[in-house]
Amino acid sequence: MAQGVTMIQAQSVLAAAAGGSSLLFRQLFDAATGTFTYLLADVPSGQGLLIDPVFEQHDRDLSLIRELGIDLVASLDTHAHADHVTGSWLMHQASGCVIGLAAAARAENVTLPLHHGDRVTFGSRFVEVRSTPGHTDGCISFVLDDRSMAWTGDALLVRGCGRCDFQQGDAHTLYRSISDQILSLPDCCLLYPCHDYTGRMVTSVAEEKAFNSRLGGAATERDFVGHMLNMKLPHPHRIAEALPGNLRSGKPREQAPSGSWAPLSRSYAGLPELTAAWVAEHSRQLTLLDVRSAEEFNGPDGRIPGSLLLPLPELECRAGEIPDDRPLVVVCHAGSRSALAAQQLLKAGRQQVANLRGGISGWEAEGYPIERA
Ligand code: FE
Repeated sequence: MAQGVTMIQAQSVLAAAAGGSSLLFRQLFDAATGTFTYLLADVPSGQGLLIDPVFEQHDRDLSLIRELGIDLVASLDTHAHADHVTGSWLMHQASGCVIGLAAAARAENVTLPLHHGDRVTFGSRFVEVRSTPGHTDGCISFVLDDRSMAWTGDALLVRGCGRCDFQQGDAHTLYRSISDQILSLPDCCLLYPCHDYTGRMVTSVAEEKAFNSRLGGAATERDFVGHMLNMKLPHPHRIAEALPGNLRSGKPREQAPSGSWAPLSRSYAGLPELTAAWVAEHSRQLTLLDVRSAEEFNGPDGRIPGSLLLPLPELECRAGEIPDDRPLVVVCHAGSRSALAAQQLLKAGRQQVANLRGGISGWEAEGYPIERA
């Protein structure tokens, strides 16, 4: 949960983020690999699931989960991907959630091996696991409890489907998986794929039955298999790295040494942030730069002892005055102007810059000292 956000506030943020529904649903995208990641949460309990996270997007996903105050129950993968490494292990490390993948994928570090018919529960909701092999022999899809939504991985894509020419793929098997397990859902069930490369984000059972270019309309299994066997696709260029990574559930081979100067977290807005607790403990080794106005700095709100004043409007032309012998933590009333200042400083090439999360108001609310003129 974000610093300075109380439990009641977090619940109301989550409820509002869900648009008044009792289910929060977010679709996230990794442009480098065309991968969709999905976040679901049961609003009353705050429990959530993540489907198909991408390793490189871990900070983004974690910050959203924390900002919305979601208690992540599980990170699930629809299959052992060949084009990107899963973020499941990182998410397990960060949140303690379980790692769910088909038992048939036989991957390491899976704490919830999944089988056809299993249910993964989050709060009062669940997704049902359906075995949908054919793209790989360990592909699964997830169907929401009321059958209004399903996450089909690479079994069914918008107007297409996953390839069947490697990873134990089989076109006959995929045809039966899609027909029996996905297109048998209600026509109005919305289908969310693992990938799209042209901006299509969602489809429905009725649409795919009518318009899927490989098996929709009057196409038969023979038509489908004939299509799939003749696609002549290039080898996925990241398979040599992605597949072994996914067979460890995304656990890095060696823990990367932390080259960071501080335990930075990234907000969903993408900015490096530090907690008041860490800044308070290390303030002697930092330059604290307050970017409020002189009136605020010297006024009743007070300031953090030892901080320097450089109002945001003057930052650009006076940046040379900022000492460069220590890492810089930028501060304002609530963390908004300082976020902009941190962004400007990073853009100007300054290294080791972070925003104080929650600003001076969060700092004071947590009981750290304030100096008043
Ligand atoms: Fe795939």
